[in-house]
Amino acid sequence: MTDDMQLLIDLHQPNDRQGPGSDAATEMAVKLAGVQADPGLKVADIGCGTGAATFCLARHLGASVTAVDFLPEFLAKLNRRAQDLGLAAQVQTLEASMEELPFDDASLDVIWSEGAIYNIGFENGLLAWRRFLKPGGVLAVSELTWLTDQRPEPLTRHWDAAYPEVATAGQKIRQIETAGYEPVGYFPLGTDCWMENYYLPLQRSFPAFLDRHGHSEQAKAIVDAEQAEITLYETYSDFVSYGFYVARRLPD
Ligand code: SAM
Repeated sequence: MTDDMQLLIDLHQPNDRQGPGSDAATEMAVKLAGVQADPGLKVADIGCGTGAATFCLARHLGASVTAVDFLPEFLAKLNRRAQDLGLAAQVQTLEASMEELPFDDASLDVIWSEGAIYNIGFENGLLAWRRFLKPGGVLAVSELTWLTDQRPEPLTRHWDAAYPEVATAGQKIRQIETAGYEPVGYFPLGTDCWMENYYLPLQRSFPAFLDRHGHSEQAKAIVDAEQAEITLYETYSDFVSYGFYVARRLPD
């Protein structure tokens, strides 16, 4: 693992979220999906980080949730939080790559993934994960989405280079249909999901992070890059957000 990767893990691991989101948004997606609470449900949270969505799902579905991430540091924090929240009996962690998930075909009722499917690409993830869902099973993912058809040029240039799959909700929903799912609903995340729940706690953790790393040039560069992303979001929040997409697997 590179030094930068270790630093990024150290920066993000103390926080409750590693990406934009909120309990209210997770709950809204659960409602849209129409999933009834049932202890027998098989649920996986892919790219779970330190467990923001995992705990919300465990509470609202009353089910056991398999929390999957490839970073053991995040899973260790998630396990500590599960103990503290009294949810340890409902949460299992699984250290695995989202590219090689070890689930049986048609074994899951729900696949959840907030701010993480981009790591294998939206279309690729839709296609790769479909087989793990039972027919009629729910896929709920949040994904970077253009809110408007026309946008300021610097914003389009930045994200087209950083994540070329960024697209409008209409385009994303078409991809969901093509991959063999019935779209059930979509909504964009509000600015609170980005600022209050993700960027502001991250900013508050910058000083302690820099202290832990002796204000090294490498640590300062990581903070500068995070701050640049925050400024970009604050400048252009009318044009870009995460979209929450809920869909059901169609039969073959
Ligand atoms: N879902 C969490 C949340 O909303 O707070 C975390 C979102 S964070 C932006 C993306 C997560 O995906 C990180 O926890 C990261 O470790 C995980 N991840 C990235 N690539 C992965 C891969 N190939 N396999 C499994 N997890 C991966």
